[in-house]
Amino acid sequence: MDITPIIECLDCGASAPFHPSQPTCASCGSDWREARYPLETLGPDWIRRLRERPMDLWRYQELLPAQPPPLSQRLGEGGTPLLLAHNLGVMLGLPRLYVKDERQGPTSSFKDRQAAVTVAALKQSGLKEIVVASTGNVAIAYSACCARAGIKLWAFLTSLVPGAKMHEVALYGTQVVKVTSTYDQAKRLAVEFAARRDLYIDRGTRSVLAVEAMKTIAFEIAEQLTGQLPPREGPPWRAPDWYFQAVSGGIGPLGVLKGFQELHAAGLIDRVPAIACIQAEGCAPMAQAWKSGASAATPVESPSTHISTLSTGDPGRAYTLLRERMLTAGGGIMESVSDEEAMRAMHTAAKVEGLSMEPAAAVAFAGLIKLTRAGLVRPEHIVVVNCSGHTMPIEKTLLGDGWAHELGQLPDQPEEGLLAALVRLDQRRVHRVLIVDDHADTRRLIRRILQAQGDFEVFEAESGAEALREAKRIPADLVILDLMMPEMDGFAVLERLRAQPETARIPIIVVTAKMLTPTEKARLEGQIAQLMLKGDFLDDDLLEEINRALR
Ligand SMILES: *Cc1c(COP(=O)(O)O)cnc(C)c1O
Ligand SMILES: [Zn+2]
Repeated sequence: MDITPIIECLDCGASAPFHPSQPTCASCGSDWREARYPLETLGPDWIRRLRERPMDLWRYQELLPAQPPPLSQRLGEGGTPLLLAHNLGVMLGLPRLYVKDERQGPTSSFKDRQAAVTVAALKQSGLKEIVVASTGNVAIAYSACCARAGIKLWAFLTSLVPGAKMHEVALYGTQVVKVTSTYDQAKRLAVEFAARRDLYIDRGTRSVLAVEAMKTIAFEIAEQLTGQLPPREGPPWRAPDWYFQAVSGGIGPLGVLKGFQELHAAGLIDRVPAIACIQAEGCAPMAQAWKSGASAATPVESPSTHISTLSTGDPGRAYTLLRERMLTAGGGIMESVSDEEAMRAMHTAAKVEGLSMEPAAAVAFAGLIKLTRAGLVRPEHIVVVNCSGHTMPIEKTLLGDGWAHELGQLPDQPEEGLLAALVRLDQRRVHRVLIVDDHADTRRLIRRILQAQGDFEVFEAESGAEALREAKRIPADLVILDLMMPEMDGFAVLERLRAQPETARIPIIVVTAKMLTPTEKARLEGQIAQLMLKGDFLDDDLLEEINRALR
């Protein structure tokens, strides 16, 4: 089965066969065009065929505008894992929260897809030199693909791109052109440069190849969710309720939405997910326009976010198209978060899920936290968040001081010196915390939050009776107490702890899954240090309360 797409002009409607090096509509000159496929030819037969193919993005070749390249030109693009984010899910009250782990692509961002499909198509049509303008990750992804395919690459980077990323680009043998300006200006310069030399330039959201490549994120999510969720009646594949991504120019969401729409049109999924496009507050033209209901975005002239990956100030028509499509398809929202919220989310995901992501990706997680707290994302929803890599430039600022245990210079007399150093490590003052909860999930999450901080010794009790025994035996410096437990509930535990002299003065933080009635609140009044709602606190909130209670 070999399906070749037709390219349709979004302005005059003209359609033509696809030629990668023809960047505009031959009839009207518009550079807004889109690939169309005969989707009705896909079906159970296609799904059966996929089973025999490797898990990379070329498995969806019938829905791509390029032939799979020879193995010598591939880097293992696509086929990234879909991870269940269990701890974050417990924290946010979202049991079906997944992370599409694009960090595991060849250069750690979803731009690997864009580069792989584009370079494959250009190589097939004989091009030898291409140009990109980038906020960083596109240039890195292209650099790797071009190196392998033997294509010369010019990368126009704004001076805001972190040095570590620039060096990575240069390492691949790319010609780096550093432009001291905004990203939008660097892009303009690159377009001019390419026009003068008659070179192909990746036009971002206006590049058919780039948008088509991003569809494969949707295909993979649908296929992987099907494998991870319990089977049920209906179309063969499953779509999530939400797809979250940090957004700059908008290629990702445009492509992913198109991908889900194609699967829907082919009858493979039963719905198109809502798309959540999250921007950095200091450069959020889309989110601003969305909130005011405008169909065009007002460009942000001088972006003021530290997250350079997300510094597209002028999304142009991409916003208008994306908004139109979101509104007619699965809906969704455009929202913004502060750099600080993103850094906090980044830290949280690293600590509780073992996912170290780049600040841009953390913007999507911060958006998820915000929209979950606003009640838009609900516990019954299946949620997928796009995650990318490249943390190196940022870890230092994120951690601040005191992130390592300093043992200092060890003396020459090895044995005793070493031991003395370890004794010092053992003698730090630690607090003993008892977690009382009948849910193993919650106990594990809270234990993890405390362990990541370092100065706690953690104990657990899964029932009220065990809690009473343990609080006395340990003895605990602090108790974190669940209210709803079978047999002896949290209220009873609290009363008994207060009644026995050995435990009467232990500070108690109550963590509960339900909103309390005024009577219940009154029962806790004056008895506890703090009341926290399950699914509505982050690691830092809890640590702050614990430290306050221990003071
Ligand atoms: C490029 C990029 C974005 C922005 O994506 P667009 O789809 O171009 O808006 C977000 N996060 C990361 C990690 C990126 O590399
Ligand atoms: Zn046209």
